[in-house]
Amino acid sequence: MDIAVETRNITKRFEKGRVVALDNVSIYVKKGEIFTLLGPSGSGKSTLLRIIDGLEEPDSGDVFIDGKCVTHVPAHKRDVCMVFQRLALFPHKNVFENVAFGLKMHKIDKNEIKKRVEETLWKVELNPEIYALRFPHQLSGGEMQRVALARALVLRPAVILFDEPLSSLDKRLRDKMRVELKQILKRFNLTAIYVTHDQEEAFVLSDRMAIINKGKILQEGTPRELYEKPQSSFIANFLGDTNIFKGVIKQMKGNLVIIELQDGICITANYTETPPISRDVLVSLKAEKIVLSDRPLFENHLEATVKEAIFVGEKIIYVVELNKELTLKVIEKNFGKTWRKGDRVLVNWLPDDIILIPE
Ligand code: ADP
Ligand code: MG
Repeated sequence: MDIAVETRNITKRFEKGRVVALDNVSIYVKKGEIFTLLGPSGSGKSTLLRIIDGLEEPDSGDVFIDGKCVTHVPAHKRDVCMVFQRLALFPHKNVFENVAFGLKMHKIDKNEIKKRVEETLWKVELNPEIYALRFPHQLSGGEMQRVALARALVLRPAVILFDEPLSSLDKRLRDKMRVELKQILKRFNLTAIYVTHDQEEAFVLSDRMAIINKGKILQEGTPRELYEKPQSSFIANFLGDTNIFKGVIKQMKGNLVIIELQDGICITANYTETPPISRDVLVSLKAEKIVLSDRPLFENHLEATVKEAIFVGEKIIYVVELNKELTLKVIEKNFGKTWRKGDRVLVNWLPDDIILIPE
């Protein structure tokens, strides 16, 4: 396995040790991989990128780029390049000069600079004949984004670091740009570490991802692994709309478990690997896995009352009440029949849709 970047046991404190921004963080990124660091605001994402980039030194731990320890190597001598949240284009330089800037710093020959800038603008789908002489204020948000990317690409770094580069764009443009960005990164087989607080963005972009909270890596894997096997309720919650309950295991037969959520309310779940070790469990049920109906569809079906029905275009969000203490969030995307507040319904789901959280 060819590793492009690795951090080993990185710890970083601020404010004379009162703020622990990173706590023993070890990650690795393979060559050609898009690796996403997903976590809420203040979880330490930018600090880790800055340490990899060389803008910040860790209190302890090491950074490796292309197998070489660079912990004490200054930023400008590291083979990495960062694209920031605020794109930081030079407003008084045109597109060509913005992209050429890094090359000029490296004292590269003029003709070579021209060749590389133009080649890179084509890579990000900006025709140099049209865009080279424009200034940032003459560009759309998406075009500025591509110039920022070109500025990093032109240096041909081993790794490109992205610190929430799309978060200032409106939603439609953001959705479009994340797909474009992925296509460009993949077409040129680039290695990237991408930081975001947006779950959907992480899922769209990542080959592999890690969830970070309060300076600690909680879990890493492919988007699918994290979605299907969250190791904690924090992760289950963070990756989409989830209902989480406490329950008690009543019975196990084959690889089915019967879990009591509350007096008399029991559900059936599958477990595929290790059986649960304690009688008390946390179960997670994704809102989009639940189907509402007026007659039983699946083995797991419970009676409920619709408390809220919120139409949000491509989906309807329901809140249904099983009893006074137990409500469920339901998301329906393929709606045939729709329900109204006060309707009596059955909530249905498959045993496979229940995830037992080991926490
Ligand atoms: P994120 O990028 O995930 O939002 P950051 O890495 O920016 O998180 O910050 C992690 C924590 O470290 C936060 O509590 C933040 O306030 C703190 N922090 C970051 N940089 C500094 C700094 N230069 N001085 C003091 N505290 C900082
Ligand atoms: Mg940040």
